[in-house]
Amino acid sequence: MTDYFEVHARDGVARAGELRLDPPLATPAAVDDRVIDAGSLWPAERDAPEGDAGALTVLPHRALPAGTPAEVAAAFAVDPADVDFPSAAVVSAETAADRGADAYVLSEAQGVVGHAEAFLDAVVAVREATPPDTALYLAGVATPRNVATLVYAGVDLVDTTRARVEGTRGRYLTTDAALFLEDLDELPCPCPACAVDRDEFDRAACADHNERVLRGELGRVRRRVADGRLRDYVEGQARHANWCTAVLRRLDDRYSFAEPRTPVVDDASMQAATEDGLRRVEIQRFADRVTTRYRNRFGDRPLVLVPCSATKPYSESPSHAQFHEAIGYRGHLVSMTSPIGVVPQELELTYPAQHYDTVVTGRWSANEREFVVEVLRRYLRRTDYPRVVAHVPDEGYRDVVADATAGLDLPVEYTVADHPTTDESLANLRAALAGESTYRKREREHNTVRAIADYMLGPAAGDDLFESFRTTSRHPKLQVRAPPDHEDGGGDEGGAQWAAMVPNYGVLAFTLAGARRWVESDAPTKRVDIDGFVPHGSVLAPGVVDATDAIRPGDEVVVEGPRAFAVGRAEMSGPEMRASTRGVAVDVRHVEEL
Ligand SMILES: [Zn+2]
Repeated sequence: MTDYFEVHARDGVARAGELRLDPPLATPAAVDDRVIDAGSLWPAERDAPEGDAGALTVLPHRALPAGTPAEVAAAFAVDPADVDFPSAAVVSAETAADRGADAYVLSEAQGVVGHAEAFLDAVVAVREATPPDTALYLAGVATPRNVATLVYAGVDLVDTTRARVEGTRGRYLTTDAALFLEDLDELPCPCPACAVDRDEFDRAACADHNERVLRGELGRVRRRVADGRLRDYVEGQARHANWCTAVLRRLDDRYSFAEPRTPVVDDASMQAATEDGLRRVEIQRFADRVTTRYRNRFGDRPLVLVPCSATKPYSESPSHAQFHEAIGYRGHLVSMTSPIGVVPQELELTYPAQHYDTVVTGRWSANEREFVVEVLRRYLRRTDYPRVVAHVPDEGYRDVVADATAGLDLPVEYTVADHPTTDESLANLRAALAGESTYRKREREHNTVRAIADYMLGPAAGDDLFESFRTTSRHPKLQVRAPPDHEDGGGDEGGAQWAAMVPNYGVLAFTLAGARRWVESDAPTKRVDIDGFVPHGSVLAPGVVDATDAIRPGDEVVVEGPRAFAVGRAEMSGPEMRASTRGVAVDVRHVEEL
Protein backbone atom coordinates (compact mmCIF):
# COMPACT_ATOMS: atom_id res chain seq x y z
CA MET A 1 0.00 0.00 0.00
CA THR A 2 1.51 3.28 -0.98
CA ASP A 3 0.02 6.62 -0.08
CA TYR A 4 2.70 9.04 -1.15
CA PHE A 5 3.75 8.21 -4.71
CA GLU A 6 1.72 8.14 -7.90
CA VAL A 7 2.73 7.62 -11.55
CA HIS A 8 1.08 10.03 -13.99
CA ALA A 9 2.80 9.25 -17.29
CA ARG A 10 4.85 6.42 -18.76
CA ASP A 11 7.46 6.63 -21.46
CA GLY A 12 9.11 3.29 -22.08
CA VAL A 13 10.34 2.19 -18.67
CA ALA A 14 10.59 5.80 -17.42
CA ARG A 15 7.81 7.39 -15.40
CA ALA A 16 6.71 10.91 -14.60
CA GLY A 17 4.94 11.03 -11.27
CA GLU A 18 4.30 12.85 -8.06
CA LEU A 19 5.78 12.42 -4.63
CA ARG A 20 2.75 13.41 -2.59
CA LEU A 21 4.59 15.27 0.13
CA ASP A 22 3.55 18.60 1.60
CA PRO A 23 4.10 20.41 -0.76
CA PRO A 24 4.10 17.77 -3.55
CA LEU A 25 7.10 17.14 -5.77
CA ALA A 26 6.98 16.28 -9.49
CA THR A 27 9.23 13.35 -10.39
CA PRO A 28 11.77 12.42 -11.64
CA ALA A 29 13.37 14.80 -9.18
CA ALA A 30 16.28 15.54 -6.89
CA VAL A 31 15.09 15.00 -3.32
CA ASP A 32 18.00 16.39 -1.25
CA ASP A 33 15.97 18.59 1.07
CA ARG A 34 12.97 16.27 0.96
CA VAL A 35 14.65 13.25 2.57
CA ILE A 36 15.30 12.51 6.23
CA ASP A 37 17.77 9.68 6.67
CA ALA A 38 16.90 7.91 9.91
CA GLY A 39 19.48 5.27 9.06
CA SER A 40 22.28 7.19 10.73
CA LEU A 41 20.49 6.86 14.08
CA TRP A 42 20.78 3.11 14.00
CA PRO A 43 21.77 1.28 16.12
CA ALA A 44 22.34 3.95 18.85
CA GLU A 45 18.65 4.73 19.09
CA ARG A 46 16.15 2.06 18.40
CA ASP A 47 13.08 4.25 18.53
CA ALA A 48 11.20 4.53 15.30
CA PRO A 49 11.60 7.95 13.66
CA GLU A 50 8.78 10.44 13.98
CA GLY A 51 8.40 11.11 10.30
CA ASP A 52 7.50 14.28 8.46
CA ALA A 53 4.70 14.92 5.96
CA GLY A 54 7.05 17.17 3.99
CA ALA A 55 9.82 14.61 3.46
CA LEU A 56 10.56 10.98 2.73
CA THR A 57 11.93 9.34 5.86
CA VAL A 58 14.49 6.67 5.03
CA LEU A 59 13.82 4.12 7.73
CA PRO A 60 16.62 2.74 9.93
CA HIS A 61 18.75 0.25 8.13
CA ARG A 62 22.17 -1.30 8.19
CA ALA A 63 24.68 -1.85 5.46
CA LEU A 64 24.24 -5.58 5.18
CA PRO A 65 26.54 -7.85 3.21
CA ALA A 66 25.35 -9.06 -0.18
CA GLY A 67 23.52 -12.34 0.18
CA THR A 68 21.80 -11.44 3.46
CA PRO A 69 18.42 -13.19 3.35
CA ALA A 70 15.55 -10.78 2.88
CA GLU A 71 13.85 -11.81 6.14
CA VAL A 72 17.04 -11.09 8.11
CA ALA A 73 17.48 -7.72 6.43
CA ALA A 74 13.86 -6.87 7.12
CA ALA A 75 14.19 -7.80 10.78
CA PHE A 76 16.79 -5.08 11.28
CA ALA A 77 14.56 -2.33 9.96
CA VAL A 78 11.46 -0.52 11.12
CA ASP A 79 8.61 -2.02 9.15
CA PRO A 80 7.43 0.62 6.65
CA ALA A 81 3.96 -0.88 6.81
CA ASP A 82 3.79 0.21 10.49
CA VAL A 83 4.39 3.90 9.87
CA ASP A 84 1.89 6.46 8.60
CA PHE A 85 4.30 9.03 7.17
CA PRO A 86 6.09 9.03 3.79
CA SER A 87 8.82 6.43 4.04
CA ALA A 88 11.58 4.80 2.06
CA ALA A 89 13.22 1.42 2.67
CA VAL A 90 16.81 0.60 1.81
CA VAL A 91 17.10 -2.52 -0.32
CA SER A 92 19.65 -4.25 -2.48
CA ALA A 93 19.01 -6.12 -5.71
CA GLU A 94 19.04 -9.32 -3.66
CA THR A 95 16.88 -8.20 -0.74
CA ALA A 96 14.36 -6.14 -2.69
CA ALA A 97 10.75 -7.01 -1.84
CA ASP A 98 7.48 -5.22 -1.16
CA ARG A 99 7.99 -3.77 2.34
CA GLY A 100 5.06 -1.39 2.22
CA ALA A 101 7.27 1.68 1.68
CA ASP A 102 6.52 4.56 -0.71
CA ALA A 103 10.06 4.52 -2.13
CA TYR A 104 13.04 2.16 -2.25
CA VAL A 105 16.65 3.22 -1.94
CA LEU A 106 19.13 1.06 -3.83
CA SER A 107 21.94 0.34 -1.34
CA GLU A 108 24.58 -0.52 -3.93
CA ALA A 109 23.87 2.49 -6.21
CA GLN A 110 27.40 3.90 -5.99
CA GLY A 111 28.91 0.54 -6.85
CA VAL A 112 26.85 -0.09 -9.97
CA VAL A 113 26.52 3.34 -11.59
CA GLY A 114 29.17 3.44 -14.29
CA HIS A 115 28.77 -0.27 -15.13
CA ALA A 116 25.88 -0.83 -17.52
CA GLU A 117 25.13 -4.50 -16.91
CA ALA A 118 25.48 -4.32 -13.11
CA PHE A 119 23.41 -1.14 -13.05
CA LEU A 120 20.60 -2.71 -15.09
CA ASP A 121 20.74 -5.93 -13.05
CA ALA A 122 20.17 -3.90 -9.89
CA VAL A 123 17.54 -1.48 -11.21
CA VAL A 124 15.55 -4.20 -12.97
CA ALA A 125 15.69 -6.46 -9.90
CA VAL A 126 14.33 -3.74 -7.61
CA ARG A 127 11.70 -2.53 -10.08
CA GLU A 128 10.44 -6.09 -10.56
CA ALA A 129 10.43 -6.97 -6.85
CA THR A 130 8.74 -3.79 -5.58
CA PRO A 131 5.24 -2.50 -6.39
CA PRO A 132 4.95 -0.36 -9.55
CA ASP A 133 3.48 2.57 -7.63
CA THR A 134 6.59 3.11 -5.54
CA ALA A 135 9.55 5.32 -6.38
CA LEU A 136 13.11 4.12 -6.94
CA TYR A 137 15.79 6.34 -5.37
CA LEU A 138 19.48 6.18 -6.28
CA ALA A 139 21.45 8.32 -3.83
CA GLY A 140 24.81 9.98 -4.41
CA VAL A 141 25.22 9.08 -8.08
CA ALA A 142 23.46 11.60 -10.34
CA THR A 143 25.42 13.93 -12.59
CA PRO A 144 24.18 16.24 -15.35
CA ARG A 145 25.67 13.78 -17.83
CA ASN A 146 24.10 10.54 -16.57
CA VAL A 147 20.76 11.57 -15.08
CA ALA A 148 18.74 11.23 -18.32
CA THR A 149 19.97 7.65 -18.65
CA LEU A 150 19.22 6.89 -14.98
CA VAL A 151 15.63 8.04 -15.48
CA TYR A 152 15.36 6.25 -18.82
CA ALA A 153 16.23 2.98 -17.05
CA GLY A 154 13.54 3.47 -14.40
CA VAL A 155 15.02 5.67 -11.65
CA ASP A 156 12.55 8.19 -10.18
CA LEU A 157 14.55 9.97 -7.48
CA VAL A 158 18.13 11.18 -7.25
CA ASP A 159 19.98 13.87 -5.28
CA THR A 160 22.57 16.54 -5.99
CA THR A 161 25.16 15.17 -3.54
CA ARG A 162 27.62 13.80 -6.07
CA ALA A 163 27.36 16.82 -8.36
CA ARG A 164 28.13 19.14 -5.41
CA VAL A 165 30.97 16.98 -4.10
CA GLU A 166 32.58 16.92 -7.52
CA GLY A 167 32.36 20.71 -7.58
CA THR A 168 34.13 21.05 -4.25
CA ARG A 169 36.87 18.86 -5.71
CA GLY A 170 37.32 21.21 -8.65
CA ARG A 171 35.32 19.30 -11.25
CA TYR A 172 33.09 21.44 -13.43
CA LEU A 173 30.20 19.31 -14.72
CA THR A 174 28.19 19.83 -17.88
CA THR A 175 25.66 17.55 -19.57
CA ASP A 176 28.43 16.27 -21.82
CA ALA A 177 31.60 16.26 -19.70
CA ALA A 178 33.40 16.56 -16.35
CA LEU A 179 36.08 19.23 -16.75
CA PHE A 180 38.93 20.29 -14.49
CA LEU A 181 38.01 23.74 -13.24
CA GLU A 182 41.65 24.83 -13.29
CA ASP A 183 41.81 24.13 -17.03
CA LEU A 184 38.91 26.45 -17.85
CA ASP A 185 39.82 29.90 -19.10
CA GLU A 186 36.16 30.74 -19.53
CA LEU A 187 33.00 29.23 -18.09
CA PRO A 188 30.83 27.70 -20.84
CA CYS A 189 27.55 28.28 -19.01
CA PRO A 190 25.11 31.16 -18.56
CA CYS A 191 23.82 30.13 -15.09
CA PRO A 192 23.86 32.66 -12.21
CA ALA A 193 26.68 30.79 -10.43
CA CYS A 194 28.86 31.25 -13.50
CA ALA A 195 27.98 34.93 -13.97
CA VAL A 196 31.06 36.14 -12.12
CA ASP A 197 34.61 36.93 -13.20
CA ARG A 198 36.58 33.82 -13.89
CA ASP A 199 39.08 34.51 -11.05
CA GLU A 200 36.22 34.88 -8.56
CA PHE A 201 34.72 31.53 -9.51
CA ASP A 202 35.79 29.17 -6.73
CA ARG A 203 34.96 25.59 -5.84
CA ALA A 204 31.90 26.60 -3.84
CA ALA A 205 30.59 28.38 -6.93
CA CYS A 206 31.50 25.29 -8.96
CA ALA A 207 29.37 23.13 -6.66
CA ASP A 208 26.46 25.57 -7.14
CA HIS A 209 26.91 25.47 -10.89
CA ASN A 210 26.98 21.65 -10.91
CA GLU A 211 23.75 21.51 -8.91
CA ARG A 212 22.04 24.03 -11.21
CA VAL A 213 23.03 22.10 -14.34
CA LEU A 214 21.81 18.84 -12.82
CA ARG A 215 18.47 20.39 -11.84
CA GLY A 216 18.14 21.92 -15.31
CA GLU A 217 18.76 18.54 -16.91
CA LEU A 218 16.16 16.95 -14.60
CA GLY A 219 13.65 19.56 -15.71
CA ARG A 220 14.32 18.69 -19.33
CA VAL A 221 13.97 14.98 -18.59
CA ARG A 222 10.69 15.47 -16.69
CA ARG A 223 9.23 17.32 -19.66
CA ARG A 224 10.51 14.69 -22.08
CA VAL A 225 8.89 11.85 -20.10
CA ALA A 226 5.59 13.73 -19.88
CA ASP A 227 5.75 14.30 -23.66
CA GLY A 228 6.72 10.68 -24.41
CA ARG A 229 9.99 11.84 -25.99
CA LEU A 230 12.70 10.70 -23.60
CA ARG A 231 14.09 7.99 -25.89
CA ASP A 232 14.90 10.42 -28.71
CA TYR A 233 16.82 12.59 -26.26
CA VAL A 234 18.69 9.75 -24.57
CA GLU A 235 19.81 8.33 -27.93
CA GLY A 236 21.79 11.55 -28.29
CA GLN A 237 22.64 12.40 -24.67
CA ALA A 238 23.89 8.91 -23.76
CA ARG A 239 26.62 9.30 -26.38
CA HIS A 240 28.59 11.46 -23.94
CA ALA A 241 29.33 8.52 -21.64
CA ASN A 242 29.93 5.09 -23.07
CA TRP A 243 28.42 3.28 -20.12
CA CYS A 244 25.18 5.26 -20.68
CA THR A 245 25.08 4.19 -24.35
CA ALA A 246 25.61 0.63 -23.13
CA VAL A 247 22.61 1.03 -20.76
CA LEU A 248 20.47 2.24 -23.67
CA ARG A 249 21.41 -0.76 -25.81
CA ARG A 250 21.32 -3.40 -23.08
CA LEU A 251 17.91 -2.24 -21.90
CA ASP A 252 16.64 -2.84 -25.45
CA ASP A 253 17.88 -6.42 -25.05
CA ARG A 254 15.73 -6.80 -21.91
CA TYR A 255 12.58 -6.81 -24.01
CA SER A 256 10.49 -8.82 -21.55
CA PHE A 257 11.13 -6.14 -18.90
CA ALA A 258 10.73 -3.10 -21.14
CA GLU A 259 7.96 -4.12 -23.54
CA PRO A 260 5.06 -4.56 -21.06
CA ARG A 261 5.84 -1.14 -19.57
CA THR A 262 6.00 0.70 -22.90
CA PRO A 263 2.78 2.36 -24.16
CA VAL A 264 1.33 0.93 -27.40
CA VAL A 265 0.16 4.33 -28.64
CA ASP A 266 1.51 7.82 -28.21
CA ASP A 267 0.79 11.28 -29.56
CA ALA A 268 4.48 12.11 -29.70
CA SER A 269 6.42 12.00 -32.91
CA MET A 270 9.40 9.69 -32.94
CA GLN A 271 12.71 11.04 -34.14
CA ALA A 272 14.59 8.08 -35.60
CA ALA A 273 17.99 9.66 -36.10
CA THR A 274 20.34 6.94 -34.87
CA GLU A 275 20.70 3.25 -35.57
CA ASP A 276 19.77 2.55 -31.96
CA GLY A 277 16.24 3.47 -33.01
CA LEU A 278 15.96 0.12 -34.78
CA ARG A 279 16.06 -1.68 -31.46
CA ARG A 280 13.62 0.38 -29.44
CA VAL A 281 10.57 -1.43 -28.12
CA GLU A 282 8.03 0.43 -30.27
CA ILE A 283 9.86 -0.49 -33.49
CA GLN A 284 10.49 -4.12 -32.52
CA ARG A 285 6.87 -4.53 -31.40
CA PHE A 286 5.49 -3.17 -34.68
CA ALA A 287 7.75 -5.51 -36.71
CA ASP A 288 6.79 -8.41 -34.47
CA ARG A 289 3.04 -7.80 -34.79
CA VAL A 290 3.15 -7.25 -38.56
CA THR A 291 5.02 -10.53 -39.02
CA THR A 292 3.05 -12.64 -36.50
CA ARG A 293 -0.45 -11.14 -36.35
CA TYR A 294 -1.15 -9.40 -39.65
CA ARG A 295 -2.91 -11.37 -42.38
CA ASN A 296 -3.07 -10.40 -46.06
CA ARG A 297 -6.71 -10.33 -47.17
CA PHE A 298 -6.26 -9.20 -50.77
CA GLY A 299 -6.62 -12.68 -52.23
CA ASP A 300 -4.36 -13.68 -55.09
CA ARG A 301 -3.44 -10.14 -56.08
CA PRO A 302 0.28 -9.29 -56.20
CA LEU A 303 2.26 -7.53 -53.53
CA VAL A 304 3.38 -4.08 -54.67
CA LEU A 305 6.45 -2.95 -52.73
CA VAL A 306 7.11 0.80 -52.73
CA PRO A 307 9.53 3.08 -50.88
CA CYS A 308 8.15 5.02 -47.89
CA SER A 309 7.63 8.78 -48.09
CA ALA A 310 8.75 11.50 -45.71
CA THR A 311 5.12 12.69 -45.50
CA LYS A 312 3.02 10.73 -43.01
CA PRO A 313 0.68 9.05 -43.42
CA TYR A 314 2.25 7.86 -46.65
CA SER A 315 -0.93 8.04 -48.71
CA GLU A 316 -1.02 11.81 -48.24
CA SER A 317 2.30 12.19 -50.04
CA PRO A 318 2.33 13.08 -53.78
CA SER A 319 4.41 9.99 -54.61
CA HIS A 320 2.08 7.54 -52.87
CA ALA A 321 -0.96 9.22 -54.41
CA GLN A 322 0.62 8.44 -57.79
CA PHE A 323 1.37 4.85 -56.75
CA HIS A 324 -2.22 4.29 -55.61
CA GLU A 325 -3.54 5.79 -58.83
CA ALA A 326 -1.30 3.52 -60.95
CA ILE A 327 -2.14 0.42 -58.89
CA GLY A 328 -5.84 1.15 -59.29
CA TYR A 329 -7.03 -1.37 -56.66
CA ARG A 330 -5.28 -4.25 -58.43
CA GLY A 331 -2.43 -4.96 -56.01
CA HIS A 332 -1.61 -4.71 -52.31
CA LEU A 333 0.62 -1.75 -51.50
CA VAL A 334 3.25 -2.27 -48.80
CA SER A 335 5.89 0.34 -47.96
CA MET A 336 9.50 -0.50 -47.20
CA THR A 337 11.12 1.73 -44.64
CA SER A 338 13.84 2.10 -42.08
CA PRO A 339 13.40 1.94 -39.14
CA ILE A 340 9.94 0.31 -39.29
CA GLY A 341 10.56 -2.51 -41.77
CA VAL A 342 7.39 -3.03 -43.79
CA VAL A 343 4.07 -1.22 -43.47
CA PRO A 344 0.99 -2.74 -45.16
CA GLN A 345 -1.32 0.00 -46.43
CA GLU A 346 -3.99 -0.87 -43.86
CA LEU A 347 -1.57 -0.05 -41.01
CA GLU A 348 -0.05 3.18 -42.29
CA LEU A 349 -1.77 5.16 -39.52
CA THR A 350 -0.97 2.72 -36.75
CA TYR A 351 1.55 3.83 -34.14
CA PRO A 352 4.46 4.31 -34.80
CA ALA A 353 4.09 4.02 -38.62
CA GLN A 354 2.79 7.58 -39.04
CA HIS A 355 4.75 9.02 -36.09
CA TYR A 356 8.39 8.45 -36.94
CA ASP A 357 10.59 10.91 -38.72
CA THR A 358 13.89 9.68 -40.05
CA VAL A 359 16.98 11.27 -41.53
CA VAL A 360 16.62 11.12 -45.30
CA THR A 361 19.95 10.61 -47.05
CA GLY A 362 18.97 7.91 -49.52
CA ARG A 363 21.50 5.56 -47.90
CA TRP A 364 20.83 2.72 -45.52
CA SER A 365 23.50 1.50 -43.17
CA ALA A 366 24.33 -2.21 -43.05
CA ASN A 367 22.26 -2.61 -39.88
CA GLU A 368 19.23 -0.80 -41.30
CA ARG A 369 19.46 -2.88 -44.43
CA GLU A 370 19.73 -6.12 -42.47
CA PHE A 371 16.72 -5.13 -40.35
CA VAL A 372 14.49 -4.37 -43.37
CA VAL A 373 15.60 -7.59 -45.14
CA GLU A 374 14.78 -9.64 -42.05
CA VAL A 375 11.35 -8.07 -41.47
CA LEU A 376 10.41 -8.33 -45.16
CA ARG A 377 11.50 -11.97 -45.27
CA ARG A 378 9.44 -12.80 -42.17
CA TYR A 379 6.51 -10.91 -43.69
CA LEU A 380 6.71 -12.80 -47.00
CA ARG A 381 6.87 -16.17 -45.25
CA ARG A 382 3.67 -15.46 -43.36
CA THR A 383 1.70 -13.90 -46.21
CA ASP A 384 0.75 -15.68 -49.39
CA TYR A 385 1.29 -13.65 -52.55
CA PRO A 386 1.54 -15.21 -56.02
CA ARG A 387 4.15 -12.64 -57.08
CA VAL A 388 5.88 -9.38 -56.16
CA VAL A 389 5.91 -6.15 -58.11
CA ALA A 390 8.85 -4.22 -56.67
CA HIS A 391 8.34 -0.56 -57.52
CA VAL A 392 11.51 0.53 -55.73
CA PRO A 393 14.01 3.15 -56.80
CA ASP A 394 17.59 1.99 -56.82
CA GLU A 395 20.09 -0.75 -56.28
CA GLY A 396 19.90 -0.41 -52.49
CA TYR A 397 16.18 -1.20 -52.37
CA ARG A 398 16.44 -3.84 -55.08
CA ASP A 399 19.18 -5.67 -53.20
CA VAL A 400 16.99 -5.71 -50.11
CA VAL A 401 14.09 -7.19 -52.09
CA ALA A 402 16.41 -9.73 -53.72
CA ASP A 403 17.87 -10.81 -50.37
CA ALA A 404 14.46 -11.02 -48.70
CA THR A 405 12.96 -13.14 -51.48
CA ALA A 406 16.01 -15.40 -51.94
CA GLY A 407 15.02 -19.05 -51.55
CA LEU A 408 11.29 -18.26 -51.71
CA ASP A 409 9.38 -19.48 -54.73
CA LEU A 410 8.14 -15.98 -55.47
CA PRO A 411 8.56 -14.22 -58.84
CA VAL A 412 9.73 -10.59 -58.57
CA GLU A 413 9.27 -7.96 -61.25
CA TYR A 414 11.01 -4.58 -61.04
CA THR A 415 9.09 -1.68 -62.56
CA VAL A 416 11.13 1.46 -61.87
CA ALA A 417 13.04 2.82 -64.85
CA ASP A 418 14.91 5.65 -63.15
CA HIS A 419 12.75 7.17 -60.43
CA PRO A 420 9.48 5.71 -59.02
CA THR A 421 7.34 8.71 -60.00
CA THR A 422 8.40 9.24 -63.62
CA ASP A 423 5.82 8.61 -66.35
CA GLU A 424 7.79 5.63 -67.61
CA SER A 425 8.04 3.96 -64.18
CA LEU A 426 4.36 4.51 -63.43
CA ALA A 427 3.45 3.13 -66.88
CA ASN A 428 5.53 0.03 -66.08
CA LEU A 429 3.66 -0.35 -62.80
CA ARG A 430 0.29 -0.12 -64.56
CA ALA A 431 1.41 -2.63 -67.17
CA ALA A 432 2.63 -5.10 -64.53
CA LEU A 433 -0.87 -5.12 -62.99
CA ALA A 434 -2.81 -5.09 -66.27
CA GLY A 435 -4.32 -8.56 -65.99
CA GLU A 436 -5.30 -8.35 -62.32
CA SER A 437 -8.87 -8.11 -61.08
CA THR A 438 -9.81 -4.98 -59.18
CA TYR A 439 -11.16 -4.83 -55.66
CA ARG A 440 -13.56 -2.26 -54.38
CA LYS A 441 -12.84 0.59 -52.04
CA ARG A 442 -15.28 -0.99 -49.61
CA GLU A 443 -13.18 -4.16 -49.56
CA ARG A 444 -10.09 -2.14 -48.76
CA GLU A 445 -11.91 -0.42 -45.91
CA HIS A 446 -13.07 -3.75 -44.51
CA ASN A 447 -9.56 -5.17 -44.79
CA THR A 448 -8.25 -2.11 -42.94
CA VAL A 449 -10.62 -2.61 -40.03
CA ARG A 450 -9.73 -6.31 -39.80
CA ALA A 451 -5.98 -5.70 -40.11
CA ILE A 452 -6.08 -3.19 -37.27
CA ALA A 453 -7.99 -5.66 -35.11
CA ASP A 454 -5.36 -8.34 -35.84
CA TYR A 455 -2.60 -5.90 -34.98
CA MET A 456 -4.22 -4.83 -31.71
CA LEU A 457 -5.60 -8.11 -30.43
CA GLY A 458 -3.88 -11.04 -32.11
CA PRO A 459 -3.94 -13.26 -35.20
CA ALA A 460 -7.43 -13.88 -36.61
CA ALA A 461 -9.04 -11.32 -34.29
CA GLY A 462 -10.16 -9.31 -37.31
CA ASP A 463 -12.10 -12.26 -38.71
CA ASP A 464 -13.45 -13.35 -35.33
CA LEU A 465 -14.78 -9.90 -34.51
CA PHE A 466 -15.71 -8.57 -37.92
CA GLU A 467 -16.88 -11.42 -40.07
CA SER A 468 -19.70 -9.29 -41.41
CA PHE A 469 -20.14 -5.55 -40.94
CA ARG A 470 -20.69 -2.23 -42.63
CA THR A 471 -18.52 0.86 -42.65
CA THR A 472 -19.82 4.40 -42.62
CA SER A 473 -18.01 7.75 -42.68
CA ARG A 474 -14.70 8.07 -44.51
CA HIS A 475 -11.19 6.78 -44.00
CA PRO A 476 -9.38 7.57 -41.70
CA LYS A 477 -12.46 8.04 -39.51
CA LEU A 478 -14.21 4.84 -40.49
CA GLN A 479 -17.13 3.76 -38.34
CA VAL A 480 -17.76 0.05 -37.97
CA ARG A 481 -21.42 -0.94 -37.77
CA ALA A 482 -23.54 -4.04 -37.56
CA PRO A 483 -24.83 -5.18 -40.96
CA PRO A 484 -28.55 -4.70 -41.64
CA ASP A 485 -29.40 -8.37 -41.11
CA HIS A 486 -27.60 -8.63 -37.75
CA GLU A 487 -29.43 -8.70 -34.43
CA ASP A 488 -27.73 -5.32 -33.69
CA GLY A 489 -28.78 -4.20 -37.16
CA GLY A 490 -31.10 -1.37 -38.05
CA GLY A 491 -31.88 -1.57 -41.73
CA ASP A 492 -30.27 0.82 -44.16
CA GLU A 493 -28.40 2.78 -41.50
CA GLY A 494 -26.36 -0.32 -40.83
CA GLY A 495 -27.44 -0.63 -37.24
CA ALA A 496 -25.49 -0.26 -34.04
CA GLN A 497 -21.98 1.11 -34.13
CA TRP A 498 -19.36 -1.34 -32.89
CA ALA A 499 -16.17 0.67 -33.23
CA ALA A 500 -14.52 3.72 -34.77
CA MET A 501 -11.08 4.15 -36.21
CA VAL A 502 -8.91 6.62 -34.30
CA PRO A 503 -6.95 8.54 -36.95
CA ASN A 504 -4.20 9.72 -34.58
CA TYR A 505 -3.07 6.22 -33.66
CA GLY A 506 -4.55 3.96 -36.34
CA VAL A 507 -6.37 1.82 -33.77
CA LEU A 508 -10.02 0.93 -33.13
CA ALA A 509 -12.04 2.39 -30.26
CA PHE A 510 -14.96 0.16 -29.32
CA THR A 511 -18.49 1.16 -28.40
CA LEU A 512 -20.36 -0.73 -25.67
CA ALA A 513 -22.04 -2.89 -28.33
CA GLY A 514 -18.64 -3.53 -29.89
CA ALA A 515 -17.14 -4.38 -26.51
CA ARG A 516 -19.92 -6.89 -25.84
CA ARG A 517 -19.25 -8.44 -29.20
CA TRP A 518 -15.51 -8.55 -28.38
CA VAL A 519 -16.15 -10.31 -25.05
CA GLU A 520 -18.36 -12.90 -26.75
CA SER A 521 -15.96 -13.52 -29.66
CA ASP A 522 -12.99 -15.87 -29.90
CA ALA A 523 -10.60 -12.90 -30.13
CA PRO A 524 -8.30 -12.55 -27.09
CA THR A 525 -10.02 -10.17 -24.67
CA LYS A 526 -8.18 -7.56 -22.62
CA ARG A 527 -10.30 -7.40 -19.53
CA VAL A 528 -10.23 -5.42 -16.31
CA ASP A 529 -12.41 -6.79 -13.50
CA ILE A 530 -13.54 -4.20 -10.98
CA ASP A 531 -15.35 -4.02 -7.65
CA GLY A 532 -19.05 -3.23 -7.31
CA PHE A 533 -19.04 0.41 -8.43
CA VAL A 534 -19.94 2.33 -11.58
CA PRO A 535 -16.84 4.08 -12.96
CA HIS A 536 -17.30 7.61 -14.29
CA GLY A 537 -14.37 9.01 -16.23
CA SER A 538 -11.78 6.60 -14.94
CA VAL A 539 -11.13 3.41 -13.01
CA LEU A 540 -8.55 3.89 -10.27
CA ALA A 541 -6.10 1.10 -9.50
CA PRO A 542 -7.54 0.26 -6.04
CA GLY A 543 -10.86 -0.61 -7.72
CA VAL A 544 -9.24 -3.24 -9.94
CA VAL A 545 -9.82 -6.84 -8.87
CA ASP A 546 -8.04 -8.51 -11.76
CA ALA A 547 -6.59 -7.59 -15.15
CA THR A 548 -5.30 -9.50 -18.15
CA ASP A 549 -1.50 -9.87 -18.27
CA ALA A 550 -1.35 -8.84 -21.92
CA ILE A 551 -2.73 -5.32 -21.27
CA ARG A 552 -0.23 -2.59 -22.15
CA PRO A 553 -0.54 1.14 -21.43
CA GLY A 554 -2.70 2.55 -24.24
CA ASP A 555 -4.53 -0.70 -24.97
CA GLU A 556 -8.26 -0.90 -25.59
CA VAL A 557 -9.84 -2.76 -22.64
CA VAL A 558 -13.20 -4.03 -21.47
CA VAL A 559 -14.11 -3.21 -17.86
CA GLU A 560 -16.51 -5.51 -16.04
CA GLY A 561 -17.86 -5.55 -12.51
CA PRO A 562 -21.01 -6.51 -10.61
CA ARG A 563 -22.53 -3.09 -11.29
CA ALA A 564 -20.99 -1.93 -14.54
CA PHE A 565 -19.88 -2.84 -18.03
CA ALA A 566 -17.52 -0.37 -19.68
CA VAL A 567 -14.92 0.12 -22.37
CA GLY A 568 -11.92 2.41 -22.43
CA ARG A 569 -8.20 2.79 -22.75
CA ALA A 570 -5.68 1.33 -20.29
CA GLU A 571 -3.36 3.82 -18.65
CA MET A 572 -1.10 1.16 -17.17
CA SER A 573 -0.22 -2.47 -17.90
CA GLY A 574 -2.34 -5.36 -16.60
CA PRO A 575 0.28 -6.46 -14.03
CA GLU A 576 0.63 -2.84 -12.88
CA MET A 577 -3.14 -2.53 -12.40
CA ARG A 578 -3.17 -5.59 -10.17
CA ALA A 579 -0.19 -4.49 -8.09
CA SER A 580 -0.98 -0.78 -7.73
CA THR A 581 -2.92 0.98 -5.03
CA ARG A 582 -2.70 4.41 -6.64
CA GLY A 583 -3.20 5.96 -10.04
CA VAL A 584 -5.59 5.84 -12.98
CA ALA A 585 -5.84 2.29 -14.38
CA VAL A 586 -8.36 2.88 -17.19
CA ASP A 587 -9.74 5.96 -18.93
CA VAL A 588 -13.37 4.97 -19.41
CA ARG A 589 -15.03 5.97 -22.70
CA HIS A 590 -18.48 4.40 -22.34
CA VAL A 591 -20.12 2.82 -19.32
CA GLU A 592 -23.40 1.00 -18.75
CA GLU A 593 -24.85 0.55 -15.28
CA LEU A 594 -26.02 -3.00 -14.60
ZN1 LIG B 1 26.91 27.49 -14.61
